[in-house]
Amino acid sequence: MARKIADCRRFESDNNCSLTIIGEEDEVLDAAAQHAAAAHGHQDSPKLREQLRAMLEPEDSYIPGARQAEPLPG
Ligand SMILES: [Zn+2]
Repeated sequence: MARKIADCRRFESDNNCSLTIIGEEDEVLDAAAQHAAAAHGHQDSPKLREQLRAMLEPEDSYIPGARQAEPLPG
């Protein structure tokens, strides 16, 4: 299974979060959901995980350093 990226730099956030999580999809989803709850005030729920899953990117698209943030979708 290919590894995936959940990249907080990709989206605008109140605290300009720079966390990037890379790993197997299930690992990334777990870590990202916990992080979203702990650092961004989201509620860890199946719906949140579904949204996070839709934002995952392939590992080989990783960009080091700064990344231009986009507005959160929806
Ligand atoms: Zn974050």
